[in-house]
Amino acid sequence: MGLRVVTYWVNELTRDDGIGLTFYRREIAPWLPGEILDFHAHIWLNEHLRESVGDAAGSRYMVAQSHYPAENLLADAQQVFPGSSYSAVCFGTPTPLADPDKANGYAAKAGSNRLFPLLITGRDMIPRLELEKRVREEGFFGYKVFLNWHGDDYGNVTVSDMIGPEEMSLADELKLIVLLHVPGAGRLADPEVQRAVRELSEGYPGAAIVLAHCGRAYMPDEMSRSIEAVRDLENVYLDTAMVMDPTVLQIVFANVDSRRVLFATDFPIANMRGRRVYVMDHWVDVVLNGYPESAFRVASNGIRATFMAHEIVLAIKRAADMAGLSRAQLSAVFHENGMSVLRRVMDGGQMGRVVARSAAGNDFGHTRCPGRRRLFPRDR
Ligand SMILES: [Zn+2]
Repeated sequence: MGLRVVTYWVNELTRDDGIGLTFYRREIAPWLPGEILDFHAHIWLNEHLRESVGDAAGSRYMVAQSHYPAENLLADAQQVFPGSSYSAVCFGTPTPLADPDKANGYAAKAGSNRLFPLLITGRDMIPRLELEKRVREEGFFGYKVFLNWHGDDYGNVTVSDMIGPEEMSLADELKLIVLLHVPGAGRLADPEVQRAVRELSEGYPGAAIVLAHCGRAYMPDEMSRSIEAVRDLENVYLDTAMVMDPTVLQIVFANVDSRRVLFATDFPIANMRGRRVYVMDHWVDVVLNGYPESAFRVASNGIRATFMAHEIVLAIKRAADMAGLSRAQLSAVFHENGMSVLRRVMDGGQMGRVVARSAAGNDFGHTRCPGRRRLFPRDR
């Protein structure tokens, strides 16, 4: 998500009036696996955010709350998926809105056997030696690639502006996750983006390249023009964050092994009640009244709605049914597929550390605050 932040009481707005959870119990709980791994969730503290970005171009693109610590993420997940055991791949706000060093320090501290942190970084942001040290010492499973723009104001940014050989060669060597939000109005359907993703995949086969939001192809037409480009790239995965269109995912399942599809929400955004739809040639978030104004967000109290996270879950189920996935393949999308990617990191080394620490009652979050060195100038 490329977002702008305003202060509001999200809990007031998302407090369930019974409609969402009744729907969940009827339509989702009976088949959803008991263990869920959300491969794309954000956490941040108010103090990570910079001021003075409010009116930047693109800043109306995605508006969310000003404070979203790990406890809130876990509480929201418990509310939205009652009775399930939830874990998440999480990271801070990967845009100029937040100080990446503060965001990374916090994500590392929050790391536990339920929260698997990614390090926000981008091309030449952190020298390779320092990057490796931080990954090893602070328990990161890879990177969330920094978005050096506000909202949808990506101009002519290319994938190679976002991540370069320094970061990718380390990811290749350590089998790190590289969670990439592809730039540009054409999204993954843009041949230039497709070429760049292929270069990363083939040039760094050890890296696990995860395309956020299914390459931002929220609409079937976009996915139709995208999927062929990644079909043979075995180390390219697709996360389902904010993807709510079953046809998009049906196209994915029909073309790539479902093991490359990773359930993801984009919390806290997917904690809104409503659904992402498309109108003409762009997505639109239809939500209940009360959320702050944001681009492509239409509010109404004339509808009933559940949490967007539920709509993502249902889109996956509907797509799996249409594509003829087995029950086991469907279940794996919600947990096992993502866990396999996490276990691959450093040949299991990073997950082994998490398990050992958690067995000893020493999750990162409870023990130490490693490496809070300042790697970025305070440039506000
Ligand atoms: Zn996001």
